Amino acid sequence: MKYCPNCGAQIDDKAVVCVKCGVAQPGTNSPSNSEWLTVLLLCIFLGGLGIHRFYVGKTGTGIAQLLTCGGCGIWALIDLIMILTGGFEDANGNKITNK
Ligand SMILES: [Zn+2]
Repeated sequence: MKYCPNCGAQIDDKAVVCVKCGVAQPGTNSPSNSEWLTVLLLCIFLGGLGIHRFYVGKTGTGIAQLLTCGGCGIWALIDLIMILTGGFEDANGNKITNK
C-alpha cells in the first residue's frame, strides 16, 4: 500500500489514479520485471546480437542490432553503459535497475 500525495488516502501500490480524489499518482512506472543481472550478462556476452533487447521485449531494435552487429559494437556498448547506470528501459518504458 502507498499513500496518495494529494489527499493522503491509502491506495494500492499499483494504482495509477487515487480512488478518493482522482489525482494521477507520480512514479507509476513500476520496476521492470526483467532481471537486471540477466540483461547485463546478455549485453556483455551477446550484446552484438541484440539478445538483451529481445530479452526485454524490444524486438524491433533487437533485430536492427542483430543486423548491424550491435551497431558495430558501439550501440551495444552504449546499451551496456545504460544498463550499468540503471537507465536501460524495457519495452514498456520501465527502467531495469539492480534491485
Ligand atoms: Zn488522493
